[in-house]
Amino acid sequence: MADRSSSLPPSPPRPDSASVRSWWGWGALDQALPDAECVSLAALVPGAAESALPVPSIASLALPAVRVSAPAALAHLVSSAPADRAAHTYGKAFRDVVRALYGDMAAAPDLVARPREERDVVELLDWAAGADVAVVPYGAGSSVVGGVEYRAGEHSGVLSLDLSGLDRVQEIDRVSRAARIQAGVLGPDLEAQLRPHGLT
Ligand SMILES: Cc1cc2nc3c(=O)[nH]c(=O)nc-3n(C[C@H](O)[C@H](O)[C@H](O)COP(=O)(O)OP(=O)(O)OC[C@H]3O[C@@H](n4cnc5c(N)ncnc54)[C@H](O)[C@@H]3O)c2cc1C
Repeated sequence: MADRSSSLPPSPPRPDSASVRSWWGWGALDQALPDAECVSLAALVPGAAESALPVPSIASLALPAVRVSAPAALAHLVSSAPADRAAHTYGKAFRDVVRALYGDMAAAPDLVARPREERDVVELLDWAAGADVAVVPYGAGSSVVGGVEYRAGEHSGVLSLDLSGLDRVQEIDRVSRAARIQAGVLGPDLEAQLRPHGLT
């Protein structure tokens, strides 16, 4: 593909995707419906609760103890912060949201890694393989089929590999209209990068 591909100009600035995503539910915090609106909508559904379930604070979550730590050379890519672990525990199915709202964090990964380039991924996988740490790739975490939740229970630890830092279009082949795109890009960011090339 390389010989027919256009040489890409510097990527356009990212669109404003900086709003904070909910750690327990779907969407961005600044776009969430207020509780009162949720309750009035729920009133349309027979049998629905009459008050909103409070969202647990991150500090109140009973996260399992962290069992593994990354080597010093990878420490800058890895987090064991409760907010990161909580946000990478589940996808976005109804059952995921319910478990998060009830503070059930039994399936939380030990660590969350955010690689910035391909070499980081290689080094993280090399370490994890040697340390018997299961790796769960994490794109946007919107799986509704349990895809980002570790359930095997047979490893020394679990690493959620958050690919959101790998969000660039790297190569476009104008003839075949194929593109080489890093694995963590979100849809709107991808569209913004393709638009200058007349592509969607
Ligand atoms: C409200 C809502 C509406 C939705 N509407 C639609 C819809 O209209 N149409 C539709 O098709 N889907 C829909 N979905 C489903 C969801 O968006 C898809 O499952 C989505 O494509 C998952 O992408 P993701 O990046 O969030 O993947 P994730 O949830 O992060 O990952 C999904 C699976 O892929 C694995 N994975 C992630 N990245 C990689 C990688 N680079 N290499 C290998 N494995 C990887 C993960 O480990 C996991 O098993 C909806 C979901 C929600 C919550």
